Amino acid sequence: APARIAVTGLAVMGSNLARNLARHGYRVAVHNRSHARTEALIADHGHEGDFVPARTLEELVASLQTPRQIIIMVKAGAPTDAVIDELVPLLEPGDMVIDGGNAHYADTRRREAALKEAGLHFVGAGISGGEEGALNGPSIMPGGSKESYRHLGPVLEDIAAKVDDVACCVHVGPDGAGHFVKMVHNGIEYADMQLIAEAYDLLHRVGGLAPAEVAEVFRGWNTGDLESYLVEITAEVLGHVDAATGAALVDVIADEAEQKGTGRWTVQEALELGVPVTGIAEAVFARSLSGRAGQRQAVRAAFGSADVVGGATDSLVEDVRQALYASKVVAYAQGFDQMRAASAEYGWDLDLGAMATIWRGGCIIRARFLDRIREAYDKDPELASLLVDDYFRDAVRSAEEAWRRVAVKAVTAGVPAPGFVSALAYYDGLRSERLPASLIQGLRDFFGAHTYRRTDREGSFHTLWSGDRSQVDA
Ligand code: NDP
Repeated sequence: APARIAVTGLAVMGSNLARNLARHGYRVAVHNRSHARTEALIADHGHEGDFVPARTLEELVASLQTPRQIIIMVKAGAPTDAVIDELVPLLEPGDMVIDGGNAHYADTRRREAALKEAGLHFVGAGISGGEEGALNGPSIMPGGSKESYRHLGPVLEDIAAKVDDVACCVHVGPDGAGHFVKMVHNGIEYADMQLIAEAYDLLHRVGGLAPAEVAEVFRGWNTGDLESYLVEITAEVLGHVDAATGAALVDVIADEAEQKGTGRWTVQEALELGVPVTGIAEAVFARSLSGRAGQRQAVRAAFGSADVVGGATDSLVEDVRQALYASKVVAYAQGFDQMRAASAEYGWDLDLGAMATIWRGGCIIRARFLDRIREAYDKDPELASLLVDDYFRDAVRSAEEAWRRVAVKAVTAGVPAPGFVSALAYYDGLRSERLPASLIQGLRDFFGAHTYRRTDREGSFHTLWSGDRSQVDA
């Protein structure tokens, strides 16, 4: 019998996805550029389901029922284009090519447009959850045409993570929408991790708590509003002791954070769209700063490092919890703003509540909190900001004093908390009656005759700064 669906690219993600499909009863055709990986998959896991190994893409294509559905899981970028170029001449109109890699959404838009010319459906599907998710149920964010989703949706929803019996997979929107949403997901993941790291640093360096003690604090937090996969694994990592030294592993790991680039993409796109995603940007920059070893050493030599203050109290722990929660609300509010802006820019018609729904399981940022976001957008799809939803407004209001105390403590102690502090500045920026943007407009008009608008009447104006300083209509 022909195979139902195919996977090409059988490194860790592709082989786990193929196994997930097979375990759900689908006959899966499998292929990899170097056949050894295909053989290894069949040898190690062939008994788990119905696999059809193919040596070449021709064989893979020939083994499939039509319209064909082929998932590409190769390295993002040029390798993906190479596979598409080889695949397209082998396909027929109506066939579907699904890119499950971490593609940039602009590449996905380009590929979708090119394949549409050939009568093919190209589906850029964001897949989150790492290798574990791919095997046991990822969060899946497929873009592409509605028609392709009619064929693919049932299969993808079948293998996706489930929360309360709801699949963490939905048709996100046309062309690059799926990969865009996956990108923002990763950006939010950066922000979330940065805030968690700052909370740890404050409890450790201001509070004087040992990593194992902070692990206990996080374990406690994971039973409340902050309950999430990242908070859960923070307790695991902080509690882990290095076998070689007997020290906390976190004290042995080199403190230079790496990145593969999706956080940077999120910030670059936010800059293009003019959406302030300060939480994600601070997170990306904090990783960059950590990696500048030479500079860090030079500045530390010149100024010295801040001393540990010590003496954590229950109130510090509770304040940090509240600051973490409020800052997290801000980071998510910003990420959702970015999706809304892109949706308007590209005509995607994104359902923001559905995005929160499909992130509840399978992915790295899965959290209890996402139910609240879904509820907020269900109540009001046009919400101006997550911050003004009743639930989040109350949460931020009640956290505000603690949040400020934590920011002051961090600044006073000399412990960097760019995520907490900048989230607070964002909040204060949005709620200010008047912003000094008026002065910026005045300056721009002074040196560049860029004009300004007035609060009391319509129109654009310019002051004759180098003349008699009277105002003229611009
Ligand atoms: P890699 O990103 O390490 O890619 C390796 C695979 O790409 C191999 O199957 C390799 O084939 C194939 N490949 C590389 N170049 C070519 C080429 N020119 N032509 C054909 N095939 C090529 O694998 P992963 O499984 O880690 O990731 C796959 C995709 O999923 C990537 O886009 C990744 O960003 C994304 N992703 C990864 C996650 C993760 O946690 N790892 C999470 C979510 C998404 P060969 O064996 O012949 O070298």
